[in-house]
Amino acid sequence: MISANATTAETAADEPAVETARRRLDRLAALVDVSDEYVERLKYPSQVHRVSIPVRLDNGDIEVFEGYRAQHDNVRGPYKGGIRYAPGVTGDECVSLAMAMTWKCALLDLPFGGAKGGVAVDPRSLSTEEKRRLTRRFAEEMRSFVGPQTDIPAPDMGTDAQTMAWIADVYKMQTGDGTRGVVTGKPPRVGGLAGREEAPGRSTALVAREAARYYDHSIDGLTVAIQGFGSVGGHAARLLDEWGATVVAVSDIDGGVHDEDGVDIDALSAEAGPLTDRTAAADADEVTNDALLELDVDVLVPAAVGGVLTADNAPDVRASLVVEGANEPTTAEADAILADRGVPVVPDILANAGGVTASYFEWLQNTNGRSWTHKEVREELDDRMLSAWEAVRESHETRGVPWRDAAYAVALERVAESHETLGIWP
Ligand code: NAD
Repeated sequence: MISANATTAETAADEPAVETARRRLDRLAALVDVSDEYVERLKYPSQVHRVSIPVRLDNGDIEVFEGYRAQHDNVRGPYKGGIRYAPGVTGDECVSLAMAMTWKCALLDLPFGGAKGGVAVDPRSLSTEEKRRLTRRFAEEMRSFVGPQTDIPAPDMGTDAQTMAWIADVYKMQTGDGTRGVVTGKPPRVGGLAGREEAPGRSTALVAREAARYYDHSIDGLTVAIQGFGSVGGHAARLLDEWGATVVAVSDIDGGVHDEDGVDIDALSAEAGPLTDRTAAADADEVTNDALLELDVDVLVPAAVGGVLTADNAPDVRASLVVEGANEPTTAEADAILADRGVPVVPDILANAGGVTASYFEWLQNTNGRSWTHKEVREELDDRMLSAWEAVRESHETRGVPWRDAAYAVALERVAESHETLGIWP
């Protein structure tokens, strides 16, 4: 039986994520040698930009969307973080995700700080042309506060390589800077990196393998259920399957497929459309997204959206280990329940950090003009992920705290050291 250290996490139902992040910081400060004044500063973003984005729709109407960019901390380097298009995007959500990016970049020892942005829009309601106009206007509104040495966006939910290509192009037209280092996650033919797309799924699979091994589970025959079959979940499923695990269930927004003997990941990946409608799913059982989270498996990987493991379903999770592929899939309440039940949760800031790590390689490629091969990307990514895993494992053992706290403590220590070296300006 895999067991977790009991957590001391305070929990509050329906608490905004940014408040949870602030209270976590207070709690973690006790684990790390850091002065209170820096902890107080790190509870707040440096800046939150809010912009209006008027877009002419295909039917001739104009609709005005709200866009945000939260910049949390840049003591270790330029701000870095994704841009999401989703109906529920708010400034507060961007702040809490920007804070997580500060810790994620520090945990991987990347020379970046944390940012996050987004537009409150359902991207599925827009045509490609509408999305192009929205993105280009958003890029124009962000002109004064993004740049290869100031703030570097990347794809996130609802955005993709094409979105980044549009932003890079707008920046080039505005500034004449054609290096394209203003954003990462671009298509390889316009400055993107071979292997960037698979990176967060690769790191999630790698961390799942190491965490399972830590608890004496070999990858051979390790049973895994993965919620989300997009960029993160799809690649994690493919790699875990390739390395010998048995992926028994995968899902998308419309539901999932389940087979105790393992679903055929290669065949499912080769088709498009809802998973349950694919021919490769014909012999598998259907499973709802709720039921998938409660399957009796060795490893559960929530890799779709935030907030899916809650106080309601955490008591029914039967997985021995949870590895977070999505950002913030576990609420603070669920985290505490899982810890009390002895179910370890390996956090997002470690597991899916392959995305920002490969983004760093892409930024290096754009700023110094030397292109990376796919093989180089994989090797350097795996090395960096394994170093981060080792740092978190050591923190988990020496501090005697759950994996999430162990990871945050490593990151906070690094960020705090930089702040203490420089002091508060002026
Ligand atoms: P994606 O859009 O490529 O895929 C999301 C998948 O989840 C799809 O299969 C979709 O059908 C499914 N899904 C959407 N809503 C769902 C719901 N309510 N219930 C169940 N399934 C649902 O997105 P992605 O890039 O894979 O991102 C997934 C998560 O990983 C997000 O939390 C994102 O912030 C995080 N993340 C992404 C990256 C990246 O570079 N893509 C990096 C780090 C973290």
